[in-house]
Amino acid sequence: MLSVVVTGASRGIGLAVAQRLACAGHEVIAVARSAGAPLQSAIAQVTGNRSGSLRFQAADLSDIGSLAALARSLRREWGSIAALVNNAGTGSAGLLATMQDGEIERMLRLNLLSPMILTRHIVRGMMADGGGRIVNISSIVGFAGFKGMAAYAASKAGMVGFTRALARELGPLGITVNAVAPGFVDTDLTRGMGEAERAQVVRRSALRRLAEPSDVGAAVEFLLGEGSRNITGTVLTVDAGATA
Ligand code: NAP
Repeated sequence: MLSVVVTGASRGIGLAVAQRLACAGHEVIAVARSAGAPLQSAIAQVTGNRSGSLRFQAADLSDIGSLAALARSLRREWGSIAALVNNAGTGSAGLLATMQDGEIERMLRLNLLSPMILTRHIVRGMMADGGGRIVNISSIVGFAGFKGMAAYAASKAGMVGFTRALARELGPLGITVNAVAPGFVDTDLTRGMGEAERAQVVRRSALRRLAEPSDVGAAVEFLLGEGSRNITGTVLTVDAGATA
């Protein structure tokens, strides 16, 4: 059983990851700005099951200056952190030429800078503990071209470069670093996508369906498990064959 921090776990993919890990017996700390109804009901369900545990830690991960204190308080409150899942992210579609500078900055701060700095602080504890697991949530948009997603794609491609380089740095210390790249998944993030576009993704996917949040949860569970102890610096694509 591992003590796992999952960022952006109040809904969508992060919540599915947190639920899956808690049900597998892990002690999960769900980080987000607020715990809405979906997370609260997941917490009640996990508590009822008496398997692992699921707890909430409020934090605004865009506030880079607060991340050192967050890492310290997570360690103080929950003890050693054996795994970190950097999932929190935001995305807005739009042609680069029409995007505001502030919007691009906000996206890069939450999607790329924040996970890098949070990892920097949390990994020190893993180094002292002699091992750990890090999983970064990227996206197929980071390596396949999608019109109207240049800034988001840059942030997600950045997560892949970060993953590979960090795997080299931390491998000798017994820490694995991997990324999961989901394809289109139905969540609040993708609510703005029209039916026609959604149908097109399904049609173009090898499996003729969309990946689901629980599929990403299963991939993360694998990357935290014994079966992946010799896997590091990789990107696991979970997209129902959209980029096959
Ligand atoms: P989502 O449903 O919009 O959930 C985003 C999560 O991030 C929420 O829990 C949100 O909680 C949290 N969050 C947002 N801003 C935050 C902040 N400043 N501080 C702390 N937490 C914050 O998004 P999703 O679709 O599940 O996406 C999760 C990850 O998967 C993202 O990195 C995304 O890029 C990636 N991804 C998604 C898709 C997709 O199709 N959905 C595909 C590939 C990759 P609060 O608002 O309560 O803070």
